[in-house]
Amino acid sequence: MAQKDLWVSILERLQPTIKKAHFITWFQFSTALAVKDGILQIAVPTVYAENWIASKYAVKVLQAAQEIDSKIVDLSFEVDGQLESSGQGVDVRNMFKEQTQKKIRKVRNINEVSVKTSGGPERVRSKILNVRYTLNNFISGGENRLPHAACEAVVNMPGGIYNPLYIYGSVGMGKTHLLHAIGNGILRTRPDLVVKYITAEKFVNEVVEAIGKRHMKQFKDRYRNVDCLLIDDIQFFANKKTSQEELFNTFNHLYEMNKQIVFASDRPPSELNDLDLRLKDRFAMGMVVELVAPEFETRMAILQQKSQEFESLVDPVVLDFIANNVQTNVRTLEGVLRQMVAECQLLNVLPSIKMAAEIIRRMNKAQAIVGYDFEANANKNIVKTAGDIINLVADYYEIDVEELLGQSRKKTVMYPRQVCMYLIKQHLDESYEKIGSDFGGRNHTTVMHACNKLGKQLKNDVRLMGDLNALKREMGF
Ligand code: ADP
Ligand code: MG
Repeated sequence: MAQKDLWVSILERLQPTIKKAHFITWFQFSTALAVKDGILQIAVPTVYAENWIASKYAVKVLQAAQEIDSKIVDLSFEVDGQLESSGQGVDVRNMFKEQTQKKIRKVRNINEVSVKTSGGPERVRSKILNVRYTLNNFISGGENRLPHAACEAVVNMPGGIYNPLYIYGSVGMGKTHLLHAIGNGILRTRPDLVVKYITAEKFVNEVVEAIGKRHMKQFKDRYRNVDCLLIDDIQFFANKKTSQEELFNTFNHLYEMNKQIVFASDRPPSELNDLDLRLKDRFAMGMVVELVAPEFETRMAILQQKSQEFESLVDPVVLDFIANNVQTNVRTLEGVLRQMVAECQLLNVLPSIKMAAEIIRRMNKAQAIVGYDFEANANKNIVKTAGDIINLVADYYEIDVEELLGQSRKKTVMYPRQVCMYLIKQHLDESYEKIGSDFGGRNHTTVMHACNKLGKQLKNDVRLMGDLNALKREMGF
């Protein structure tokens, strides 16, 4: 089988298991080069795609490959920027065109997939657990391997040796995420179990209410029949004696029945002030793990994953900038990205370092920002005319201005020409007629077509996005 055909067969198997937008984003213009010593050599157009496929889809790709050729045991990747222009890469969008014709088959595929994952998270219905938080989408680099592994162990054997599990770390480190993930994980394999997540604050409020309404027995019963109790932010129990007493009794009862208990807090048990000593002892008698701030690489991986969750493609250079500037709180890290993606969608622009820098500064005025100089950039506005942009684009793609403006229909010239028209329209807002006349008297509809086409392409073309961002940086945006 020719390597490209082999790759198409693999892609056909993969495609029903991956969301369409993601599939197109990551696999567009990829191909297989060879199978050598059991290693399937894959070529992709960008480093970004390589990282993604290697980190997120490697297992799926390998499985699909093995179904076709059982001799394949591993994958390797290579980045080749010419895959599209050389025609070597597979245009995966075609797969979807064919599919509308083969609709019936596609429906069957989807069913198969959902059968495979039956009992998975979509089956789990719980009002209190947030199904968005899973162990799978909790990224842990070396620094948080232990808490992650402890949570996995609890999911595999609730009430086992890691009981109680006590997770602590400062704000925004992912404690709440992990508590929900444990709950979701347990329910996934044991939907019959009763899992309860509650914040300490709510627990205290319930105690107060139970006392007021003289419902203490109902309150106690509610907590006595759970199989897994997840209590968040337990530092909140400080100074609340009656609630501590209730927690203590609940704990003892559940513990004796080998039920799983997980606590999360912003500090280790020893530093919980104004808390009953007996309770502190209980907290510390199982496994105590600390969540620390993620390293740079982990922050990058988190950003990449979140941008995928937001279904938005962000230039790695911009992610790098955010990861460098937001170091201690994952919630803020995610917040900056979320804000940026929202603004970009509203304004119909691309994420940029400038925008990220402004959002970070807005969130925390006191923070020094590395890698972006507000003052220098305020004065830097080198681009004033269409001619400036034309020169820049010609430089960037290393072609002559005459060629860029001329009639050549070579792909290596057509593509930069479209990029150039797009940038002029976006940033100088010149009329299509004017741009057409700048480009050797072209018709305005040609220009309009080019701009629309690029605008659409931007939604899932990493290379185009990278080019535009690099050019915009040079333009001072
Ligand atoms: P905490 O409870 O420790 O204050 P959260 O669990 O609320 O923190 O986490 C804040 C946000 O950051 C959540 O949206 C969570 O999904 C995300 N988050 C934190 N750590 C990670 C991680 N390691 N991987 C993925 N997302 C994370
Ligand atoms: Mg929390």
